[in-house]
Amino acid sequence: MSPEAHRTAGPQAFPSRDEITEALRLVAAEAEAYLDRLDRLPALPSRPEESLLAFDEPLPEEGEGAAAALRRLIDHGLGAAGNTAGPRCFHFVIGGSTPAALGADLLASTLDQIAYTWITSPLGVGLEQISLSWLKDLFGLPAAWPGVLTTGATMANFVCLAAARQWWGERQGADVSEQGLSGLPAVPVFASGHLHASDVKCLSLLGIGRQNARILARDAVGRLDLQRLESALRDLDGKPSILIAIAGEVNAGEFDPIDAMADLAGRYGAWLHVDGAFGLFAALSDRTKALVHGVERADSVTADGHKWLNVPYDCGFAFVRDLGLLGKAFAYTAAYLPRPDDPRPTPGAIGPESSRRARSLAIWATLRAYGRAGYRALVERHLDLAQHLARRVDEAPDFERLAEVPLNIVCFRYRPTDRDRDDAALDRLNARLGEEVLRDGRVLVGTTRYAGRTAFRPAIVNWRSRPKDLDTLIAVLRELGQRLAGEVA
Ligand SMILES: *Cc1c(COP(=O)(O)O)cnc(C)c1O
Repeated sequence: MSPEAHRTAGPQAFPSRDEITEALRLVAAEAEAYLDRLDRLPALPSRPEESLLAFDEPLPEEGEGAAAALRRLIDHGLGAAGNTAGPRCFHFVIGGSTPAALGADLLASTLDQIAYTWITSPLGVGLEQISLSWLKDLFGLPAAWPGVLTTGATMANFVCLAAARQWWGERQGADVSEQGLSGLPAVPVFASGHLHASDVKCLSLLGIGRQNARILARDAVGRLDLQRLESALRDLDGKPSILIAIAGEVNAGEFDPIDAMADLAGRYGAWLHVDGAFGLFAALSDRTKALVHGVERADSVTADGHKWLNVPYDCGFAFVRDLGLLGKAFAYTAAYLPRPDDPRPTPGAIGPESSRRARSLAIWATLRAYGRAGYRALVERHLDLAQHLARRVDEAPDFERLAEVPLNIVCFRYRPTDRDRDDAALDRLNARLGEEVLRDGRVLVGTTRYAGRTAFRPAIVNWRSRPKDLDTLIAVLRELGQRLAGEVA
């Protein structure tokens, strides 16, 4: 049907079945062409505001039909899209999308599955259980642990810390899900300086309070002071607390000592939560699995799907030792909903979302397509790429590496040789360089503060990344840095 025909057909004709073929063909062709050129595209769009102007219009009274709307989205929208599925995106921790995961995710949209409960999607819920089992196997977590898929590690941390809060309440003789926290003492939470911002956000959402996280760091990097942790736990005199361990912190890919924290949690009766958003994947390689030693002794563990697993955004997973705690924290009941004692699973009653998309299809498909060996090889390729980048930095007279590279992140700064600059001047220069590289857009990388210095911290998790992409990162930083070095005092 032509757009004109749509316009004259009247509202009752919308949407029309004829549009389905048009829409699918158009999107499939454009998706293929986009993914074909993705490796060559700049990481960021150059003039997104201009592209977005095409969308700046009032709500149309008469629609233009699917094909015309999709054509507009493709013609103008791609110019405002971050090409973050591409190989030179090292900011935050940005995964790509494997072909198998992408295909399955498109199928999940096509089938429009509601993975809230078995009734609406035996496929989505059944594959969720299988994917979670496979993931536990992949990471070496106990097979009996229940789990649930979430939008990402933030919500996975929320699930785990909600279970921890429920557990803590029960130790006080309270059911926090039913009665709330009022009247109870503050919840003691301990972590190193590696604590991730998302865990802090969850403490706020859960009413525990951001400020109740006590950071016990022994150095400027934030590494855990185990002795202070032990004396803090001893001072609690048997009262329960929550320990949060970070497996893979975002500045240099370091790990909290999970096994030692599990010892303390056992000795002093604390809950141990491990946030392994990307670092849990260290378990896949013999070269790095010692970093997550002891993770199976935790009470709850999280990881992301959209980072190192390379499934499309958004996807994360939470594993919690005790199903009963999840059932209490996330109980979701009404006369028209499945009964809590229904033997068929209802993920919507053990996690934060009720209606939810079937993220399991992409996880299942990518694990089925590439298997344990494929993912081990992917992780090891990224470990090699991180070492490649570290060597490039070490060889260069104008770059300075600031940290060891235990995993997939390289922490370094630009340090031109033209004259001596103190740390404050280097901080200003690197901060300006960080802004400049985002404006330039060829590569995507961000700055952080590491041990009191401003530094770059590229994180490598995309299956498309190759050594030449890291060489490009260095070349772009050098080119922009040389231009700035004269200007920034
Ligand atoms: C990325 C990350 C998170 C947050 O994950 P989202 O998927 O963005 O919600 C939490 N913890 C750590 C350690 C992370 O690296």
